[in-house]
Formats: sequence, C-alpha cells, structure tokens
Amino acid sequence: MASTTANLVICGAGMAGVAAAYHLAVRQGIKNLVLVDERPPLTLTSDKGTQAYRNWWPGPGDTMVRFMNRSIDLLEELASECNNSFRLNRRGYVFLTADEGQIPHMRRTAEEICALGAGPLRIHPGPEEYNPSPPEGFEGLPAGADLLLDRALIRQQFPFITDAVIAMLHVRRCGWFNAPRLGAWLLEQAQRSGVRLLRDRVVGVETAGGRVQTVRLQSGARIDTGAFVIAAGPYLRQVGALLELDIPVFNELHGKMAFEDDLGVVPPSAPLMIWNDPLYLPWSEEERRALAARAETRRLLEQFPAGVHFRPRDDGGKPTLLIIWTYDTHIQEPVWPPQFDPHYAEVLLRGLGSMIPGLAAYFGQGARGYVDGGYYCKTRENRPLIGPLPVEGAYVIGALSGYGVMASQAAAELLAAHVTGASLPDYAPAFLIERYKDPAYQALLDRWDALSGQL
Ligand SMILES: Cc1cc2nc3c(=O)[nH]c(=O)nc-3n(C[C@H](O)[C@H](O)[C@H](O)COP(=O)(O)OP(=O)(O)OC[C@H]3O[C@@H](n4cnc5c(N)ncnc54)[C@H](O)[C@@H]3O)c2cc1C
Repeated sequence: MASTTANLVICGAGMAGVAAAYHLAVRQGIKNLVLVDERPPLTLTSDKGTQAYRNWWPGPGDTMVRFMNRSIDLLEELASECNNSFRLNRRGYVFLTADEGQIPHMRRTAEEICALGAGPLRIHPGPEEYNPSPPEGFEGLPAGADLLLDRALIRQQFPFITDAVIAMLHVRRCGWFNAPRLGAWLLEQAQRSGVRLLRDRVVGVETAGGRVQTVRLQSGARIDTGAFVIAAGPYLRQVGALLELDIPVFNELHGKMAFEDDLGVVPPSAPLMIWNDPLYLPWSEEERRALAARAETRRLLEQFPAGVHFRPRDDGGKPTLLIIWTYDTHIQEPVWPPQFDPHYAEVLLRGLGSMIPGLAAYFGQGARGYVDGGYYCKTRENRPLIGPLPVEGAYVIGALSGYGVMASQAAAELLAAHVTGASLPDYAPAFLIERYKDPAYQALLDRWDALSGQL
C-alpha cells in the first residue's frame, strides 16, 4: 500500500479545488500540496454552467457584493496575466420587462444593489448618454447599471427583442468567460508550482487527538497530512461525513440547453439577457388542445415564472444560444446523468420566444437542443461555506451554488488566508460554518430565502 506525505490535501478538482490549489501553491507558496479527484478535473459541475459572472447581489448587507467585486478584481487580474486566454468579457446582464407595474420594482432593486457597492445608477433618458457594452474586452468600462425607460432606445440596441418591451436594466460589471480554460490555466500554474494531481477517490480521513492525520484513497494509498480541504462540489455532505461532520447543505438540480441558432435570429454580440416577467408559453390552438387533453402536459398551459435567460456562445463558428430557466426547483441527491423534464427543451425555446419573437421559427424543434446540467450545492440562505471546520486541520470551500465559477477566485483567496493565517477580509465571518451557532443569525435565516440572489 503506497504511503506518502503532504502539507495539504484538497479533495475535488472542480473550479473550487483548482482555484484553491492555485492560491495556496502559486500565490501563498505552499509546498507539497496534493489535489485528489476521482474524475478528470473540472468535469462534474464546473464545465456545465453558463460561466457568467456579476457583481449584482441582493442583501442583507453588502457582503455578497463585496465578495463578488473582489472575485471579479481577481478574474480581471488573471485575465491580464494570461493575455485573456479565457476570454473574459464584460457585456453585462440585461433585464427586460413588458410590464409597467415592474418598473418601480426594477428601479428600487437597482437603487438598492447599486448602493451596496455595485456602482452608480444611470437613468435614461437623463443627463448622461447610454453607452452600450462592447462584445469583447473588460477594461475601462462602466460599473453600476443603466436603467432605460425609452422603448425606442432599447429596440435600437436590441432590435430582435419583442416590441412589447418597455424597460431595461443593463447591469455592467458582469459578463462571462470560458471557465474550463481558466481552470486549465490555474491548474497548469499550480502544477508548475509543485501541486500533484492524483486521480483517485477520497474514502476516509483519519484523525488523531481531534486533528486531521491521514487521508485514505480508494486505491489503498494513504497520505499523511495535517491539512485537508473539502472542495467536493455536490458531494460536500458525503466528504464531510468522513470527518463525522454534518455539513448543512443540499443539492438542487439545474439544467441548461445549447441550441444552434442557425438562422442567426440573435446577433452573436448580444449580452446575457433575462426576461423579468412571468409568462404563458406560446402554443398554437391545435397544440393547446393536445396539451390540455393529457394530465401530465396540462401544466404547460399554466403561467411560468419570470427569469428565462440566455447568452450567446460561439461553437467553432456555429452561433449557439445557451438557455436557462429554472421554473421548477428539485432538491435531491446527485444522480448521473441528471434527469430533466422531458419538455424542458421545448419549454425553454417557447419561453425565450416571448422575449425574442424570431425564435418562433424554431418552435417544435426543441429536440435539436443539447440539454445538460448539474447540481447547485447550497446552504439554506444561498451563501457559501469557506474556512475552517470543527476538526482541526480541516477546511471547506463549497456550497457555491449557481455562482461557483464567478466566486472561485475570492473564495480560494479567502480559503488560502484561513490556511496560512494571513489577515482576513471583512466578509470572512459571513462564510464560516460557525455562523449557524449565532442566535441572531438563526433569527435572520427565518426570513431569508434559499433562492436569494439566484437567477
Ligand atoms: C446549469 C448550471 C449553470 C451554472 N451557471 C453558472 C454561472 O453562470 N456562473 C457561475 O459562477 N456558476 C454557475 N454554475 C455553478 C458552478 O458551475 C458551480 O458553483 C461550480 O462549478 C462548483 O464548483 P465546485 O468545484 O465546488 O464543484 P464541482 O465542479 O462539482 O467539483 C467537485 C469535484 O469534487 C470531486 N469529488 C467529490 N467527492 C470526491 C471524493 N470523495 N474523492 C475525490 N473527488 C471527489 C468531484 O469528482 C468533482 O470533480 C452553474 C451550474 C449549473 C449546474
């Protein structure tokens, strides 16, 4: 049986584990670090999302805005360092509504989040001109948000959007990047700094005197170490249980569809766009009758919630739309491959068709889309867990929900500060597992929503 030693072992080479390895080995100079994953790196959840980022987060307080602003600072720093090999852009997120009644809410939310530190709010028409975002690049662009209340101006920017639109909120310190490429770059830098990547499964963690002592792998190998970091994504609970810890997280299934826009309905330069209104799916009279006739399809005639969204992706010259809409949330243990509503693809197309009428040309062709996804590992208030665990030498970086690639850099930097004893940013206590012991925090949780900040 192989036995080795390490200063630190990380369980999981998704975005969280790889970023942790980078920050610990490259930025903090920790030697003899082992990264263990039973799968190829970045292939479970971290390559399944839309890979988008935003500094647009609700309260309570400014914790999430500050945390994400820091993560985006680091993403920009890394992009500059590697000649933007992971194609970070800053096209923004665009929220749209056709409902007059939504405007006061849209404005109030924008004022609140801008005041939390997302940047200034500009209202159009107003004293300043609206500046659209360029499709590529991230430097020298405004932060905050632009609220456009002029339908003609909105349609001038985005003529493919329904003419029913009446308001648009363009949030600016947002965009997307190629997460697998960023992850591969971080891993390469970490390996150059001596990190060893092992393809194996962590099956046990032995402790002595209440401290981490040995990590046991499925192959039979044993790694003697004083520090163990859990970065196990949707398996956070299971790996926590190896230390007899009950980590308070659950998993929620989320899917997305990649759909080739071969008619070029949406320009490839579009930002990430979100329809802010609940809607009824557009069906023909004949389809409506057929759906109404069967109990299992009747719900497709009911109202669907707000939030269908997409962003374009260039698939080697083939214009593709990545479409997401979580109209049902399912809490479950991970099952592979994940199973989605059989109508999911068609529902996404029709839902997005309310925002982009030109997509009607594809109605009935949902089966052409490629549906995949994964699990958001979440705490009940949708904030992450980063820092030491109640077993000495054990740490966690997880519960990164639907924001794990955007948060990866600030999360990993924070984890590294906990491990090395460096000074901590002021948002650090908000992400400790200890927070649940605080009665005041518990009281706050009763009024907190697990969908907080989720699109
Ligand atoms: C549909 C969808 C859309 C999303 N969109 C976005 C987005 O736009 N922006 C964003 O920031 N985030 C998004 N996310 C969320 C983001 O993808 C996740 O938060 C992030 O990938 C989590 O990273 P992770 O490293 O914690 O987990 P994972 O990527 O799941 O990695 C965990 C790793 O741990 C390994 N592991 C587990 N147990 C063991 C063990 N016992 N031994 C060895 N290895 C083990 C697994 O094999 C896996 O490789 C989206 C997610 C989905 C599903």
